[in-house]
Amino acid sequence: MSRCSNTHVAYLPHTTFSAEDVILVARREILFQEQTIRTAVECSGIGLHSGAHVSLRILPGPSNTGIVFRRTDLDGFEVEAISRNVARVSYATSLMKKGVLISTTEHLLSAFVGMGIDNAIVELDNLELPILDGSARPFIDLIRRAGIRKQRRPRTYIRILRALEVREGNKFIAVYPAERYSVSYTINFPHPMIGRESLAIELTNGHYISSIAPARTFGFLHEADAMRQQGLIRGASSENALVLTRDGLTNPPLRFDDEFVRHKILDLIGDLALIGRQILGNVVADRAGHAMHTALVSRLLRDHSLWEETTLYDEAYESGASSEVAAEQVI
Ligand SMILES: [Zn+2]
Repeated sequence: MSRCSNTHVAYLPHTTFSAEDVILVARREILFQEQTIRTAVECSGIGLHSGAHVSLRILPGPSNTGIVFRRTDLDGFEVEAISRNVARVSYATSLMKKGVLISTTEHLLSAFVGMGIDNAIVELDNLELPILDGSARPFIDLIRRAGIRKQRRPRTYIRILRALEVREGNKFIAVYPAERYSVSYTINFPHPMIGRESLAIELTNGHYISSIAPARTFGFLHEADAMRQQGLIRGASSENALVLTRDGLTNPPLRFDDEFVRHKILDLIGDLALIGRQILGNVVADRAGHAMHTALVSRLLRDHSLWEETTLYDEAYESGASSEVAAEQVI
């Protein structure tokens, strides 16, 4: 069993990826078959908003099950990571089914997408996932230690056929047809360390692990008291979030100059995972947040004329990539 904690940095040495790692992931990013993890791994920490201690265990999942959360403290009650179970979204994305809550799902779901994991059971003994260091990097490290197992079932993608745009005041989010999954995000915070940041990333080239996963969540110190009174950020600290003052940062250094927009991309990828399938499309977001991300997901799924389900399996055979598929099965 692997262990990680939100108070130790013991996992840091494992998070430097060699060129070989990135190439390996890059090659595997175009996935023809579903994948799960190889062995169970676990991790513990505290929830960002609840402050509650939680133990989390990730187990291999059968093909075609997707990501399923299981509350071990509630007789193993299961909540699937799908759009239909989205409960409330303000500062984090929470799922709820028959009154059972799973909170702050986005960082782990994002890591699963980044690592190409389709199926997994996620057991937890409390209502909120651990925040760990505020990024997806500890989850990436955990999945890497578990190993990845290819499954027989062809992977199903949602291919975007027509554009969908959602606007709300000056917030915007859209998805456009494309042959690969890519995301671009723009944020604009009136803060000397942020301002306007914009970044585009293609997920099929392995950049997620090095460029997105390490980006940490962030918050403003002057909003902290009001948020705590709403029952939020009770587990937040300088160990698990970038804490901004009105004109600076209490816990430098940044991992990237534009770490803030990178974290927004991390969140967006995690929220889009609630589609239940990886998309073939280009997602563009401008000053959006969890509510806009999940609104895009539900509107997309509601209108079946916007997309089609497809596997890349037949196309792979037709284009002569079958030898690589066969080779990967042996690994
Ligand atoms: Zn986040």
